[in-house]
Amino acid sequence: MDSSHGAQPIPQHPETRLVTSGRDTKAQKGFVNPPVFHGSTVLYPTAEDLHAHRGEFQYGRHGTPTTRALQDTLMALEGPQCAGVGLVPSGLAAISTTLLAVLGAGDHLLVCDNVYRPSRNFCNGLLSRFGVETTYFDPLIGAGIEKLFKPNTRAVLVEAPGSQSFEMPDIRAIAEVAHARGALVIDDNTWATPLYHRSLEQGVDISMQAATKYIGGHSDIMFGTISANAKAWPLLAETIRLLGVCAGPDDVFLALRGMRTLAVRLAQHHRSGLEMARWLAARPEVARVLHPALETDPGHAIWKRDFTGASGLFSIVLKPAPQKAVDAMLDTLKLFGMGFSWGGFESLVIPFDCDLYRTATKWSPGGPTLRFHIGLENVEDLKADLDRGFVALNAAI
Ligand SMILES: *Cc1c(COP(=O)(O)O)cnc(C)c1O
Repeated sequence: MDSSHGAQPIPQHPETRLVTSGRDTKAQKGFVNPPVFHGSTVLYPTAEDLHAHRGEFQYGRHGTPTTRALQDTLMALEGPQCAGVGLVPSGLAAISTTLLAVLGAGDHLLVCDNVYRPSRNFCNGLLSRFGVETTYFDPLIGAGIEKLFKPNTRAVLVEAPGSQSFEMPDIRAIAEVAHARGALVIDDNTWATPLYHRSLEQGVDISMQAATKYIGGHSDIMFGTISANAKAWPLLAETIRLLGVCAGPDDVFLALRGMRTLAVRLAQHHRSGLEMARWLAARPEVARVLHPALETDPGHAIWKRDFTGASGLFSIVLKPAPQKAVDAMLDTLKLFGMGFSWGGFESLVIPFDCDLYRTATKWSPGGPTLRFHIGLENVEDLKADLDRGFVALNAAI
């Protein structure tokens, strides 16, 4: 919805759509932002309307003016392939709801070996209990995924890049094979967001987001969004209805507020992230930086082809060092907080080890690995913080 009336819509760039979409000034009595609708009951004016479930809104779980504003904004950002957007209470709920929507007993699922670990837990736990078989594949498999397809393969789940190891799957090649075999492609697009990776345009059928991360952007909500094309949306809409998942109105409002500033925040995360990645690559303690926007990264060609920007999340491989030295570094850092999640305004660091859970590929980076989220602090301050950290690391080796 739009506040302009009668005029032909002028094509807009994504940054503009992020600011203007979902705004219904007239309904909001002139205010720019929609109110937060706390509502379950929707009253019907006549018995006839009630019998027919007639009305713009029918019941709180099925949507409010606040959820519609956010859905309209996400649809405008995703582009014309997007047929619908589901809003759910967490990023993981976006993954589980999507998989439940497209899979049934006896189906086979292909999952990229670099996906978010709780996505694997869902497949290995609940999906296997309900008779869905999962096969994990090498993130770099490309069109070679063909040989893993079975007659009952219904879907492929990818994450580009994986949010710890940053390998970059070739989603276009995977989607071509999947579609030839009648399977749907699901992309966990949390790292780049639809602003920097237009996955629905690139053969993905369902693109989901942990909106907890960059869409919320302030580390203060748990939220998930699911964008689907016309082929997949009916399945999703039905499953969301049957499961009864819906998101809390305050979180819906905060996600919409986050969308308004997504473009400026992400541009800064991109700039600062790359500057810190290059600075870290030049450090003698660092063996490798895993960041697909770096020219030297093995995933760079795919990133350049498919993405228009990078976020502030990447990893490094340290030269071999004892855990106690890495811990000394982590304990020295003041600006880099240690904590899970990312996508907020603050810088974060965590140690990680993909070898604990990978099954299709061997993860042996050759040294301790750290994942950084570069926040919106001044990069010189962040460098100074890491300088102190490296002094502590070297002193403890
Ligand atoms: C955080 C994250 C999720 C899950 O999001 P929650 O809101 O924490 O449930 C899913 N995928 C990726 C890539 C993530 O980083």
